[in-house]
Amino acid sequence: MKGNIMEIRNVKGTHDIFGEDSRIYEYIYDNFVAFASSYNTKHIIVPVIEQSDLFQRGVGEASDVVRKEMYTFLDKGNRSITLRPEFTAGIVRSFIQNKMYATMDLPIKLYYCGPVFRYERPQAGRYRQFEQLGVEFLGSDSEMVDVETISLAYNFLKSIGLGEIVVFKINSLGDEETRDNYRLALKEYFKEHLENMCDDCKNRYELNPLRILDCKVEDDKKYIVNAPRINDFYSSNSKIRFEKTLKALDLLKIPYVVDNTLVRGLDYYSETVYEIHFKDEDIGALGAGGHYSNLIEELGGPKLSGVGFSFGIERLLSLFKDKSPYYKQVIEQEQIVYIMPIGEESVLKGMEIASKLREEYIPCEMCFDNVKFGAMFKKANRLHASYALIIGEEEIKNDTYKIKDLESATQIEVSGEQLIDKIKQLFFHL
Ligand code: AMP
Repeated sequence: MKGNIMEIRNVKGTHDIFGEDSRIYEYIYDNFVAFASSYNTKHIIVPVIEQSDLFQRGVGEASDVVRKEMYTFLDKGNRSITLRPEFTAGIVRSFIQNKMYATMDLPIKLYYCGPVFRYERPQAGRYRQFEQLGVEFLGSDSEMVDVETISLAYNFLKSIGLGEIVVFKINSLGDEETRDNYRLALKEYFKEHLENMCDDCKNRYELNPLRILDCKVEDDKKYIVNAPRINDFYSSNSKIRFEKTLKALDLLKIPYVVDNTLVRGLDYYSETVYEIHFKDEDIGALGAGGHYSNLIEELGGPKLSGVGFSFGIERLLSLFKDKSPYYKQVIEQEQIVYIMPIGEESVLKGMEIASKLREEYIPCEMCFDNVKFGAMFKKANRLHASYALIIGEEEIKNDTYKIKDLESATQIEVSGEQLIDKIKQLFFHL
């Protein structure tokens, strides 16, 4: 606090991404877009605010996200509005509203990126506003489309150096017949334990007993471990579908383990669901997704299926910094030219050169501080500049400038006429 002016801080559970982190963020995003594009996936940008109803119906009344975590408020027109807690419902809404399904060329493949909001208890790797990056493939029921999303996620992780250290946990929640039978079995099993379990589980028992399997209360876990497993209830269609899915993953050499306890926190999933984890330590899921057979219809669209996944960028970012072999390269790859003018006249000349370099997409920065040469070099090193361009009175008089390669510490002299072309050659290895 300064005087009696209260220091303004960020809202609890939010955070700023800047400096090194924002550079990695961009690197992650660029790689993701490159891979999404290689699956012919197009960008979609949907609103941050939606009618609350969308998430209540889409994500599901029984999910923790809807019951406890949504940022919901009345706007000035008395409409109930919610800050999106995830992307799928909004994208499905857009798919329906814009009649994207009215094409022969399904599935429609979309990727997205942006902030989502959940009122969770903040802790390491868990925020109230965080960034998600993901895809939705809409309009096909083929299990191979499910596999395509998994392979996209895996190839992307490989491209950022995390392929070797992740594992996909995968399960099938089966079709409706499977889940109807499984729900009955769960109700039968939990009936005798329910009075000793938490209030949330009592609620889940009525609304959607599958959610009980996701309970995080320590005392409840002893009941959950012995609960019936979904794989004993698969319909023949679901069984065959899941087997085909796993076979394709084997063929594509995607590392996975089947985990029959995986149910996911959002209610719309059916058939294949998956989570992506760091294999050596539980740091929470890096990403998660799955197939949904009924969501499009439940939100007022045709009877079509979809599949999608979402990564949490903060978790990717922190694992990237800890473990990716590309981390150093990404941070140090800050190729820039540092322009060092000596004297007032040189500053103006430097400005002129900087402007020409920028026209050629060569990033550069100029020293405006009235400091000694040595201090300028120190700053160039801190900026990881690749080259320093030295402009003094002498250089201007002779129209010849010095370019110093800061890695090899070698120096060349170039005439004003050739300067931009020479830097371009060096910079882009022409
Ligand atoms: P979900 O939409 O719940 O399937 O989550 C997808 C991914 O978003 C997770 O695998 C996490 O990487 C990330 N995520 C979910 N909740 C949070 C949170 N509160 N803070 C940071 N990342 C999160």
